Amino acid sequence: MKKLLLIACLFAALGATAQEATQPAQQQQRPNRPRRQNWTEAPHLSLDSTTRGPYTLIFINNDTTFEAEGQDVKKRMIETFYKVYTAEAKDFNPNTSKRVVFWIDRNYTGVAATGGNLVRFKPAWMLKKPTDIDVVTHEVMHIVQAYNGGAQGVGWLTEGIADYVRAVYGVDNEGAKWYLPKAVGIRPDPKNPTADINAKGYEKSYRITAKFLLWAEKNVKAGLVVNLDGKLRSHTYTADGWKDYTGKTLDELWADYVAVASKEG
Ligand SMILES: [Zn+2]
Repeated sequence: MKKLLLIACLFAALGATAQEATQPAQQQQRPNRPRRQNWTEAPHLSLDSTTRGPYTLIFINNDTTFEAEGQDVKKRMIETFYKVYTAEAKDFNPNTSKRVVFWIDRNYTGVAATGGNLVRFKPAWMLKKPTDIDVVTHEVMHIVQAYNGGAQGVGWLTEGIADYVRAVYGVDNEGAKWYLPKAVGIRPDPKNPTADINAKGYEKSYRITAKFLLWAEKNVKAGLVVNLDGKLRSHTYTADGWKDYTGKTLDELWADYVAVASKEG
């Protein structure tokens, strides 16, 4: 489970990087992503392309072990891509990129990262944990999000939406033993044991935010996540906007959620 938290998400599209706190600091300072013109020109062992409906997936691999042992997971990645990307595009952003590149890159040191319409995957991770197929679901949502700088300062929400999408659209989260947290999911900080651990806890991002969004979507305002995603893409999102979207401020909504979720076992 812990290793799943190592997923690093870089967004060229955001004009900023958003990474898990568990990522080494040097990676946060120097995003490990290629320049666009290198995608297909870089040395590779295989490069093939599939098209289904309006979408084309270019699949590039430069890892010898993956080439020999990764054909099954490659097939599953492609199948998952078409299933989830089509659904995500339909529900969130029909104008999303029609061309997507998956790059199995032996030089990539995270688990997976997305910039523009390129997703890089660490071959060793996909071979070791082939059940974690919904890494695809999370990453390609970043392509659909296409915030182009609009999410600066709300990276927590960008990642929260991507994990919400993984929870709702994922094809095999159970197989990966990937779940939203029990209760609120925030642990006390040993360095600051008297702090209110739930204050602005929505900013914890990823699965913690995803679960909050799922609760709000079901119990407060259906369509909230699509609305938030659209506002981020059109650069009209504001923190104050939560009151317009839901009738409550973000902090009020979070307090309501914590009161309910904290009672869970
Ligand atoms: Zn992400």
